[in-house]
Amino acid sequence: MADTLVRLLGTLVRDRKTLVRTERKLVRRQVELVKELGRLLQGIGYELRPIRGGKARAAASAGAANSEARKPLMCPKCDRRFAHPLPLARHVSASHTRKKARGTRRRTKKAKG
Ligand SMILES: [Zn+2]
Repeated sequence: MADTLVRLLGTLVRDRKTLVRTERKLVRRQVELVKELGRLLQGIGYELRPIRGGKARAAASAGAANSEARKPLMCPKCDRRFAHPLPLARHVSASHTRKKARGTRRRTKKAKG
């Protein structure tokens, strides 16, 4: 009986090791894929950044103080906050800057003749 148990335990340990190795392999592949994706994105002018997974939800319930720390830039015209100047600038120009209203839509004029 004890022999069987020991043997079973041995198999279990071996299986677990295999599992761990497989997991590591998978993680490495995942990282490589993400890196590859990041490189691709950089090629077209984007940046891939990891988010701290899981903490995002906790931060949401933690309250505004945390989000203030993460998003130090505040829109001068409204209360929206931004972590980076670029989205802020985009927001300001999109929400608070009046473009030439007629410039955005082209009216098709009927050509004479
Ligand atoms: Zn705003």
